[in-house]
Amino acid sequence: MTLISLTESPFRHSPIHPSVHVAGGDGPYGNTYAALAQVDLSPARRKRVLLKPNIGRVAPPEAGITTHPQVVAAAIDAFREAGADVAVGESPILGVKTEEAFDAAGITLIAHERDCLLIDMDARRFVEVPVPDGVAINSLKVCPEVLEYDLVVSLPVMKMHMHTGVTLALKNMKGCLWRRSKVDLHMLPPVEGHDEKPIDIAIADMSSVLRPHLSIIDGTVGMEGLGPSAGQAKPLGVIVVSADAFAADAIACKLMGTAAEDIPHLRIGAQRGYGVIDLDSISVTPDGWHDWSSPFAPPPENLSIEFPNIKVLDKNSCSACQSTLFLFLKHYGNRLFDCFPSDTSVCIAIGKGNEEVPEGTLCIGNCTALHRGNGIFIPGCPPVSSQILTAISGKPSVDSKDGHIVTSDIAVGGAPSI
Ligand code: SF4
Repeated sequence: MTLISLTESPFRHSPIHPSVHVAGGDGPYGNTYAALAQVDLSPARRKRVLLKPNIGRVAPPEAGITTHPQVVAAAIDAFREAGADVAVGESPILGVKTEEAFDAAGITLIAHERDCLLIDMDARRFVEVPVPDGVAINSLKVCPEVLEYDLVVSLPVMKMHMHTGVTLALKNMKGCLWRRSKVDLHMLPPVEGHDEKPIDIAIADMSSVLRPHLSIIDGTVGMEGLGPSAGQAKPLGVIVVSADAFAADAIACKLMGTAAEDIPHLRIGAQRGYGVIDLDSISVTPDGWHDWSSPFAPPPENLSIEFPNIKVLDKNSCSACQSTLFLFLKHYGNRLFDCFPSDTSVCIAIGKGNEEVPEGTLCIGNCTALHRGNGIFIPGCPPVSSQILTAISGKPSVDSKDGHIVTSDIAVGGAPSI
C-alpha cells in the first residue's frame, strides 16, 4: 500500500493566496465543468483519483442531502479528460447501505453510463492513521482506499449543520472514516482548556491529516436550517472549486450568508495554518461571484424554538443522541403528543449529566439509564427513531408514509444522522 500525503495539493499554487472558482447560471454538469476548466488538472494525469461525494444517506438528488449526480458526472469526465483513472467512493452514515445510497442519489446510473468504478469504502478493514497534531483525537480509523488513491477530491453539498454550523469540503471528509468510527467524533468528552465543542476541535484535527487535494462544493440544491438532513432544500445553482479546502469552504460560507470565522472547525484549522479563510487573501473568479449568494437559514439554536411544548434536559449529552432527538422530533414530533397528555409539556432527557429528571420523563440513550424508573427509557448508544416510537406507542412502529417498519430515520436512512 502506498501511503500518500493528503495534506499537500498538486493543484494548489499558493498556500498564502489560494484561488477559488465559482460557476453558476448553467445546470449542475455545465457549472461543474466550467469551474473545473479554471483549474489545471494536468497533475492528475496517470494518477488514480478518488471522488468522495456526500452520499451518506438514502435520498434523491433534489432533496439537497446528497451530491447531485451531474456534478459527479462532470468531475468524472473532467478528470478522465486530464488522463486520470477515476473512481467514486463513499462510507455512509451508520445503518445506510452504500449501494442503496448510490442508487437513490442517481450516482449508480451516471457511473454505469461511464463504466466508472463505485466503491463501498466500508467493505474492507480500516487503516489506523495517527493524528500527531490532534487536540481532541490522536488517531482515526480511515477507509483504506482514501490512502491508496493518489488524489482525493471532496464533493460535498452546500449545507447548514445543526452541530458544526456548516458541512462543506472539510467536514465531508468525515465520510472517509470507517463505519461507526464516524460517530466516535460525536461522542468525545469536553477538551480541557478549550471553549469549542469537541466535535469542532476533532474536525479541525481531522483536517490536519485528511485534507482533500481538490474540493468541488455542490450548491446546485443545498440545505438550510436543520441540516445535514432534516432542513429545507435550498436551490442555489452554483459550484465552488478550489485546491484549498478551507478557501473553498470560506467562499461557500460567504455565498450562504455566513462567515467562515464563525464556523469553529474552519476557524481552528485556519489558525493552525491548514488553509486560508481570510477573504481578503483569497482570489475568486469571476468578479461577480457575489451575485450568486443567497442567505441560508441557520440551524435553530435550541429545540424549544421549533417544539415549544417540549423540555429537553441535555446535560453532558453528545451530538449522537442530540441528532437522534432532533430527527425524531422533526419527523415524528406530533406523534409524541398523541402519546402524552395534551395539557402538559413533555420532558425528554439525554446525556449523563442530568442528576434528576421529573416523573414521566422520556429517557433516551444508555446515559439516562439511571433514571429508567422515572419514565420511559429507550436504550441504545445512540438509539434510533423507531425505538423511540415503539417505546412511546407500545407497539412496533410503522412509518405512515411508506408502510414499512421504521428501522431507520425516514428519508435519510441510518441513525443517527450526523
Ligand atoms: S447514550 Fe447518547 S449521550 Fe450517551 S454516550 Fe451514547 S450517544 Fe452519547
